[in-house]
Amino acid sequence: MPKAQETVLEIDLKALKHNFDHLKSRLHSNTKFMAVVKAFAYGSDACNIANYLQNLPVNYFAVAFVHEGISLRKAGITKPILVLHPQAANFNILIENCLEPSIYNAKILKEFIAIASAEKQSDYPIHIKFNTGLNRLGFSEQDVDTVISQVKSTSSVKITSVFSHLAASEDLNERDFTINQIETFKRITENITKQIGYKPLLHLCNTSGILNYPEAHFDMVRSGIGLYGFGNSEKENKNFKPIGTLKTIISQIHAIEKGQSVGYNRAFKTDAFLRTATLPIGHADGIGRQYGKGKGYVIINNQRAYILGNVCMDMIMVDVTSIDCNEGDEVIVFGPHATAENLALTANTISYELITGISQRVKRLFLQ
Ligand SMILES: *Cc1c(COP(=O)(O)O)cnc(C)c1O
Repeated sequence: MPKAQETVLEIDLKALKHNFDHLKSRLHSNTKFMAVVKAFAYGSDACNIANYLQNLPVNYFAVAFVHEGISLRKAGITKPILVLHPQAANFNILIENCLEPSIYNAKILKEFIAIASAEKQSDYPIHIKFNTGLNRLGFSEQDVDTVISQVKSTSSVKITSVFSHLAASEDLNERDFTINQIETFKRITENITKQIGYKPLLHLCNTSGILNYPEAHFDMVRSGIGLYGFGNSEKENKNFKPIGTLKTIISQIHAIEKGQSVGYNRAFKTDAFLRTATLPIGHADGIGRQYGKGKGYVIINNQRAYILGNVCMDMIMVDVTSIDCNEGDEVIVFGPHATAENLALTANTISYELITGISQRVKRLFLQ
């Protein structure tokens, strides 16, 4: 791996393949795989990642919003793309780009049927989302008859899949709750399948669902975080390899005398001699202010260098008093060893938030 000469997010496609293979090994051979590449493939790079995954091959892609799906189409993704949270204002361009909407309430079902009919579509693939306990998006169990009668009243759409989302699949203390979600999903989908007269694809599990509830894989699973290298538990993390390594360099080293301060608002004051390193990465790159004031750290020469004072927009200053290092040296913010999950914990958050927050300003470098 080349030494960093600026802030760069290295993306290891071999690790991505490893994670995909591991997830597949946990599935029945005919269970379909939907790769969730929303939010720039969790802060990496949606187009390159999707192009790589398309050939592995995955069966489906998922994004959150219509414009994310359009970017994938522009990048040459031809596989089906589910849009998890489309808005009616974008239904025309959704259809133009052959994206498939998640339909989560009666209002948007009606709006989508109207637009699909006006555009002279027939059997346009839609995915019906049910709420089974997350209480975020989705029809409720009582809505099944409404959904069926609306869909049966037109030839412009066809239910390609029926799905729901688990609220606490990574938390084994919530096992009873999850089992109840699975049972509810089974009841709903049996009812739908009976009434609609054909068999839509059924899917429920995200990454932790795949790992913890093998009995609930149904016809397809949806994985995001697992592909990017996190299993949401110490045990499962061993089976995955984080694909991203965020690196930067030391721009300048300062000797700070007793009584001086470091950074904005003099948030750090020292009562002893100190060596600090200034790094070209800040909150505009995704290292939020919550990592400042001694909470977060980076790795220099295999040692932790804690962030001093406030995180700036484009820089952080770290404590290198006891680290042998020079200006120009490489710095690891997170990677396969000092993981994003551990760094996220220092600021009371989760890997998902840290990695999806790495801004588009940071250069991406792909390792084959
Ligand atoms: C984001 C998302 C996923 C992926 O979840 P992971 O925990 O990252 O595997 C799956 N399904 C839905 C509905 C989502 O919003």
